[in-house]
Amino acid sequence: MFFSNSPLSLARFSTSTAKSCFLQLGRGIADDVDLMTWLHHRIWPYESTMTEEDSYISTLLCGIELIHSGVTCFAEAGGQHVSGMARAVELLGLRACLTESIMDSGEGLPSSWGMRTTDDCIESQKMLYEKHHNTADGRIRIWLGIRQVMNSTDRLLLETRDAARELKTGIHMHVAEIPYENQVVIDTRKVDHGTVTFLDKIDFLRDNLLAAHTVWVNDTEIGFLSRAGVKVSHCPASAMRMLGFARIREMLNAGISVSLGTDGAPSNNRMSIVDEMYLASLINKGREVYAMGTTDPTALPAETVLKMMTINGAKSVLWDNEIGSLEVGKKADMVVVNPVSWCMVPVHDCISNLVYCMRTENVVSVICNGQWIMKDKKILNVDEEEVISLAIQASSKLLRRAGIKIPSRMNVL
Ligand SMILES: [Zn+2]
Repeated sequence: MFFSNSPLSLARFSTSTAKSCFLQLGRGIADDVDLMTWLHHRIWPYESTMTEEDSYISTLLCGIELIHSGVTCFAEAGGQHVSGMARAVELLGLRACLTESIMDSGEGLPSSWGMRTTDDCIESQKMLYEKHHNTADGRIRIWLGIRQVMNSTDRLLLETRDAARELKTGIHMHVAEIPYENQVVIDTRKVDHGTVTFLDKIDFLRDNLLAAHTVWVNDTEIGFLSRAGVKVSHCPASAMRMLGFARIREMLNAGISVSLGTDGAPSNNRMSIVDEMYLASLINKGREVYAMGTTDPTALPAETVLKMMTINGAKSVLWDNEIGSLEVGKKADMVVVNPVSWCMVPVHDCISNLVYCMRTENVVSVICNGQWIMKDKKILNVDEEEVISLAIQASSKLLRRAGIKIPSRMNVL
């Protein structure tokens, strides 16, 4: 990231993790509803109805928003139609670790989906790896996915672990999102705490695991994650809306590489990593009231948050040998920020200004893999207006096909 029009120059990369780019057309379809309605009546019907073209358009729209906030690399947490996502990422000029949504068990899934066998799940991901890994000038990598523990057999978990080792790639999995998940694991997997305890017991935890959210963990489990070198993606807005206060300070203190993510549009609505930096800082300072009995403004200082967005993001996607910091020999992924605006001046401390003052609108240009992908706020490789109109059409058709009706709350003129 560079400050332009200013003698202060700060060189950093911008990476972030844990999105769901295929969910962008579902922005606003599940606001202010309970978690079961969210999943069973909005998200699963949306996902099980979408086409590859929908996934492509969704990823284009998501990518445009990401680039505007200075993101050069993202990790998809596991979605539908990876080939559609890959086509969009290649065109946009972004970098991404793409993952298929993988489930081989679970209750209440849409009947149209049909249950996939464990073998199907592994096979399909190996085919995607074969087809897309290291494509788009090396900007696309294929990861393996585990949607979450309640939708996975033990065999799927272990075979995924082994396949990832064989392919030398990572695993992206939602971990310990809600207390209910931990309770189901205690009841069905016969462990005394929850998902992380169970994953440790079956020897699943490895340093190529990116654990999304990871909110409901105890001290022992933080120890397990730290010892195994597991990376954690903290998505502050989504956590506040759906999951709870993650123990970020404790995880960072235990040496865990924690990065920042936006989560998908139906869980957050805003795909701006700039907003997430600000939120991460505030939420984790405020959380100290509950953890320590008093606020602590020194918790998660600006430099920590900036590291979470940059080098920790790169470590989370196992790419820190090439991205995550400006160094000789690394890829040219750069963001230009114009701080001369009403929301950023005066700049006395550029790192704190980046975290506490910067808005998405201050990001003016982005380079990924040595190529400009946004210049003077203009997205270069796709026509932004055209994508917006395609997205509006595709989303309303998709909702109609899926039978998703959003109740109207009040008359809006
Ligand atoms: Zn998520």
